[in-house]
Amino acid sequence: MDTQKISLLEGREKQVYEKTAGGVEVDIACDKTSLSGSVSQRACVFCGSRVVLYPVADAIHIVHGPIGCAAYTWDIRGAVSSGPELHRLSFSTDLQEMDVIYGGEKKLYKSLIELIDQYQPNAAFIYSTCIIGLIGDDIDAVCKKVAKEKGIPVLPVHSEGFKGTKKDGYKAACMALMKLIGQGSTEGISKYSINILGEFNLAGEAWIIREYYEKMGIEVVATMTGDGRIDDIRRSHGASLNVVQCSGSMTTLAKEMEEKYGIPYIRVSYFGFEDMSKSLYDVAQHFPERPDIMEKAKEIVRDEIRKYYPEMQKFKAALAGKKAAIYVGGAFKTFSLIKALRTIGMSVVLAGSQTGNKQDYKNLKEMCDEGTVIVDDSNPVELSKFVLEKEADLLIGGVKERPIAFKLGVGFCDHNHERKIPLAGFIGMYYFAKEVYESVMSPVWQFAPRKGGAK
Ligand code: SF4
Repeated sequence: MDTQKISLLEGREKQVYEKTAGGVEVDIACDKTSLSGSVSQRACVFCGSRVVLYPVADAIHIVHGPIGCAAYTWDIRGAVSSGPELHRLSFSTDLQEMDVIYGGEKKLYKSLIELIDQYQPNAAFIYSTCIIGLIGDDIDAVCKKVAKEKGIPVLPVHSEGFKGTKKDGYKAACMALMKLIGQGSTEGISKYSINILGEFNLAGEAWIIREYYEKMGIEVVATMTGDGRIDDIRRSHGASLNVVQCSGSMTTLAKEMEEKYGIPYIRVSYFGFEDMSKSLYDVAQHFPERPDIMEKAKEIVRDEIRKYYPEMQKFKAALAGKKAAIYVGGAFKTFSLIKALRTIGMSVVLAGSQTGNKQDYKNLKEMCDEGTVIVDDSNPVELSKFVLEKEADLLIGGVKERPIAFKLGVGFCDHNHERKIPLAGFIGMYYFAKEVYESVMSPVWQFAPRKGGAK
């Protein structure tokens, strides 16, 4: 297969950049809606909201729209819960043609009453989908009415699929959370406290991270939204610091909380030894009057790295010189993945994200080696082209990238919704290296050789 013959779609040229020595600096044209017909890997606005709010486990989540929208996001995240699991039930008003003609408000009202009576949730999130934006159902009025009747927060999420990019869905989710924040009592919350934002507990990561912070003597008031609870979110304005991991999805919330409640925020990442250590040190630095917190952070980093470092060397010896392609949701995760891959001797030949902003791509260009292709809001044809052209041995992505990797005959690592093994924290770096090693070095590739004639 001659991948040189695969050209970029017209209109996509400004969202693809190859770093070359002395190359012309160009601004990647991000923050725009996907090119029609490109079959973008990026999800819709509704999906953006759904993935952020999904892990709130003691609320019901109702998708107001046709069943397809609910099916698309049904159990979309593996987000695990230490208690209730209402989030794993995907409810939909299943709008039909007659509802589209006459409106779906009555159906939504009846569904809400029935579900609240049956499941006794602590809150309900109602997601607007494309069709609701078209027919104009007043979901705010229905939510208000039901909230009054049932005495629980019933929160509209304005996430009509067509009204922007996935990032707009993140914003809509943050605005729904803001309606909860501030409703609970902050009595008894320690001065040395944080909220963990943008950690979704896909495979228990929130528990790992929480444990590190608690060992340091920090109180975690709320995790948003991994293993999330409505009452914790309601009192989260009592924390002293917001620690934001998935910056694409949660920076809006952090900024809103800073403005309304004066809570500062920092950006962190829990992937890889380097960034995980930094995220502990950065939190400790926020409380300079308690040097014991920093001491404890150093002790955790020392102990954990000592535990996993020898195993990492084995993976590194086998993977040295192998190449990886990264295409994930948020650009901040890409930075950590580049560092983590370098720890195990691999280089990155393709780096991209669905929701990066101009600053993210500027940083990415600085971090990447020459010859690396950087893409924003990519599609299957583009990803395939660059994976083959750059002879990547591994693709890191999510559920939509997995078939691309396997069809091309290259290894794959799921760094998104569906994974069952935690990749965050020090132990997560070990699991990550192990998974990469097992996929890249798998004997299966001799029976399913890489497409394009590469070795
Ligand atoms: S909200 Fe719109 S774009 Fe999103 S899944 Fe539903 S119909 Fe598709």
